Formats: sequence, structure tokens, C-alpha cells
Amino acid sequence: MRYQNRPSALSGLIGTRAPFDIPAEVKEEAVRAMLEREWNRYPDAEGGEGLRQDIADSLGLGMGNVVVGNGSDDLLPEVITMFRRIYVYEPTFEMYRFFAEKHGVQYVPVWLSPEFRFPEPPETGSGDLLVVCRPNNPTGTEAEEDIVLSALERGTNVLLDEAYWDFSGHTMVEKVSDYPNLMVLRTFSKAFSMAGVRVGYLVASEETASRVLGRRAPFPVNVLSECVARAMLRHRDLVRKTVDYIVAERERMEQRLGELCVRSTTNFFLVKGDMRERLAERGGILVRKLSGRLSEMSRVTVGERRENDAFLEAYLELVSGGAGGRLAGP
Ligand code: PMP
Repeated sequence: MRYQNRPSALSGLIGTRAPFDIPAEVKEEAVRAMLEREWNRYPDAEGGEGLRQDIADSLGLGMGNVVVGNGSDDLLPEVITMFRRIYVYEPTFEMYRFFAEKHGVQYVPVWLSPEFRFPEPPETGSGDLLVVCRPNNPTGTEAEEDIVLSALERGTNVLLDEAYWDFSGHTMVEKVSDYPNLMVLRTFSKAFSMAGVRVGYLVASEETASRVLGRRAPFPVNVLSECVARAMLRHRDLVRKTVDYIVAERERMEQRLGELCVRSTTNFFLVKGDMRERLAERGGILVRKLSGRLSEMSRVTVGERRENDAFLEAYLELVSGGAGGRLAGP
């Protein structure tokens, strides 16, 4: 099966998406499924029974455990506003703070250690939620399973964001059967190469899932996106291939960079130095600029091999003082 790699500028290292598009054959399969649907009809009100069932089957759970959304971001407001206060391991994905502030939910950061390790969870009450992004964006580090378990055992409500779990291989999704206080957020945007299609989902106990569902507007996923997600669920071999490529490339890059990067379990990693401007000037290599406690670091996403090589060459030259720029910061 061939991958479609459009020739592009060296821009693939900035977002956290997969470097490869879905192969044409699988797109065609999805389009054939679309052609069989009636586009004048509304989709299933709760987000495509077929899709929810397929996701549930892939997890060994029931449809009642799954809530789907137009990307996983789409599910965050309804989840966050079920609580008065959210505790969030920081630095992390900024949409948790964005939605909390937007909806008047108190936001309390729980800071990672200077090495980006996760401290013990805070004491919480019934109106509180603890958000754990595992593995974490943008640090690429991961909370120990025991940290999450100890919060769950204490009765803390936990939202576990597993957007990048395919790259670490560590999931706690099966624990939703044991802990009604656990919600797991997943997305098709990363390992499934579907960021533009917009499908994400929440997994929880039936009771918790139906509480979230009750807060949602109907028709969260359109029939076209549903067809793509269902096609990709039938092609797990492709997802595996993408993940294997990314993990191997990440390890190769980390090895070259040594102490200059933070070891990651995702499809991106942090490097020392605020490098965005200097790398952009050198051949349009785009990496993510960071702020706050990470302002002296940059986030690099694993891209296509030629992009990764171009990044390594430019970054290492800049850091070594070549091309007129020594590394500032840590
Ligand atoms: N969670 C995390 C940790 C993310 O990094 C992202 C995307 N950058 C999302 C959720 C949202 O992904 P999507 O809305 O595409 O499913």
C-alpha cells in the first residue's frame, strides 16, 4: 500500500499530527461508504451508532461507554463544566485552561518537576477534576500508572487524555470498568492520520458516559467523518505502520541529540533553546515556540525523514555555534 506524501515546505515539525496522509486506497474505501449513505438525512443523534459500536468493539467495551465528538477538543467543554474546579498537571495542552477560563471553572496548575516528572496527585473534593495528559503534550513525559491509580483509589475524578497513547503503548482505558470516576479521552487525529477529519471520543462507565452525553448537542459527528473513522478502524495495520515509523524516527533523533532533548514517549519531543526564529530562517524548518516555564525550549514533531534530517542538521549546527548562533538558555 502506498503512502501519499505531498511535496511540501519543511513545515511538518510544528503541529503534533502524523506525517503521512491516509493512503488513497483507504480514502477511496471511505468515499465508497459515503456514497452509500443518504446525505439528506441527519446522522444518528448520538454520533453514529456504527462508529460508536466499532470504537466500543475495538476496546472490548459497550457502545454505552463511548461518547464521540468532532475531534476530542469538542468534548472538553462538557466534561470540564461538570466540575467547579480542575487540577491540571502543567505545563500541558493549553485547551484545558482555555475552556476552564472560558466557562468560569477554577483552574489549578499542579507543576511537574524540573525534569518534567509527575508529582503525587493533589487532595480533591467531589466538585473537582484532575486532568492528566498521558503521555503529556508538550513535555513528552508520562505520569506513572500508580499516580493515576492512587488518585482514582482516593475517589478523585480523573480525565485521562490519551491523545498520544499509541506512541507510548500505555493505556488505562480498560480501567473505566473498575472506576466510575475515570474518563479517558482519545482522538483519531494523531496515529490515525485524521486531524483534518475531526473525530475524537470519550470512554467512561455507562453512567458517566450517559451524563456527558446528556450535556451534548445532538449530531456531534457527520456521516462523512464517520465513514473515514470506520474505514481506518478496519485498517489498524496502517496505524501500526505509522506508529512504528514515528517511534523509530523519534529514537533515532533522540539518539543524535543526546542531552539536548528530553526523552519522549510521543510523536514529538522538547529540545533546548528557543529555536523557532533561527530554524525558520534556516530553510523554513518550523518548530513550536513555547512560553512560560518552557520559553527556553522548543517542541519538535517527528516528520518525514527528510524533514527530520534537515532539522537535525540545522539545529545541531546552530547549537554548536555554527551559522552564527550559540544556544541560549538551559
Ligand atoms: N489532547 C491533546 C493532549 C492534544 O495535544 C490535542 C491536539 N493537539 C487534543 C487533545 C485535541 O485533538 P483533536 O481535537 O484533534 O482530537
